[in-house]
Amino acid sequence: MNTKERKRIAILGSTGSIGTQALQVIAEHSDLYEAYVLTANNNVELLVEQARSFLPEAVVIANEEKYVQVRDALADLPIKVYAGADALCQIVQEKPVDIVLAAMVGYAGLRPTMNAIRAGKTIALANKETLVVAGELINRLADEYHADILPVDSEHSAIFQCLAGEVSPIEKIILTASGGPFRTLTLEQLAMVTKEQALKHPNWSMGAKITIDSASMMNKGFEVIEARWLFGVAPEQIQVVVHPQSIVHSAVQFADGAVKAQMGMPDMRLPIQYAFSYPLRLKSSFERLDLFRISELTFEQPDTHRFRNLSLAYEALRRGGNMPCILNAANEVTNRAFLEDRIGFLQMSDVIETVMQKAPFVASPTYEDYMQTDAEARRIATNCIA
Ligand code: NDP
Repeated sequence: MNTKERKRIAILGSTGSIGTQALQVIAEHSDLYEAYVLTANNNVELLVEQARSFLPEAVVIANEEKYVQVRDALADLPIKVYAGADALCQIVQEKPVDIVLAAMVGYAGLRPTMNAIRAGKTIALANKETLVVAGELINRLADEYHADILPVDSEHSAIFQCLAGEVSPIEKIILTASGGPFRTLTLEQLAMVTKEQALKHPNWSMGAKITIDSASMMNKGFEVIEARWLFGVAPEQIQVVVHPQSIVHSAVQFADGAVKAQMGMPDMRLPIQYAFSYPLRLKSSFERLDLFRISELTFEQPDTHRFRNLSLAYEALRRGGNMPCILNAANEVTNRAFLEDRIGFLQMSDVIETVMQKAPFVASPTYEDYMQTDAEARRIATNCIA
């Protein structure tokens, strides 16, 4: 393939865990992919280093105060430098961009992803918060603008891979969860855990926010909501199964009872690469699964008594409207408060539950409703913590 046919990828959040792994995939397949846009929030040093190595068309630093620093550091190169949240929203719509990898963390990913969809781009979606907050709206937009949304989240990529070639409906999705670092702790022990312990995930190395969400099982709750919108299933069709080895990345059961699972080593580069190369599979150097070395695959029921976030997420999904947006905003505030030692581990669920009770419910939210809901839910959560 000549270089003109390379797919041009805009990476939103190139300095993060997903972003840096995506750049490894691009580097390994530089005949097929080009990093066309790189973006970060604050990490100037890494953004500049990435830009010098991948020579993108443009970089965006979301924090406008860092603009001059980035511009000066790249002054000797023909790379356009922009700053601010609006620039992120505009850059994804640039004509040459083929794929937008949405790998920013949190609610901030929603607006640029919506803009990329409006420009008809293929979305490789890591930013699950986008679908948690506004899944219905995102699906509507994707239909209207004929934009494909390809999952990057390992569980959803697994489901997507199980569905390849299938035309029959899904009977049930089996969404696996590692259970996180606190899977076996009692409620009394959970009350005492620290952020340092929560940040040590047994199987995956990820950004701080999702690592805390994994420890509290909010991440799995979010993934239930994400699966609902990606695969058009009802909440009752999604079963969470705790599988501590993180080898079965998820499975799908069909009408005849057949269950297809996707397995592999825990390595995010595989789902990232699959989203880029879909429907093809590319050769990779990733570590291979050796079942003799794993020897044991175990499965358990999740405990929603100890991990209440999972039931709060199911409840938000069942209630619909802006409730998942409320859940997300409250979670972003409590997650940060826990990382800053302002609240304890179990208090996170208490605050989220209170915010879900107090924030005004909107049954059929517009984008403006989501913005208001997000702001109001954050305000209530912040007051609760104070
Ligand atoms: P990280 O925290 O490692 O990286 C986040 C990236 O987003 C960084 O590049 C960061 O820039 C940028 N960013 C943060 N806030 C903003 C903002 N307000 N505006 C613009 N850019 C911003 O996160 P992860 O890579 O772990 O996760 C990214 C997304 O992917 C999340 O939604 C997560 O749930 C999802 N995901 C992650 C997985 C993983 O293995 N890490 C697995 C599955 C899903 P800076 O570095 O400058 O702060």
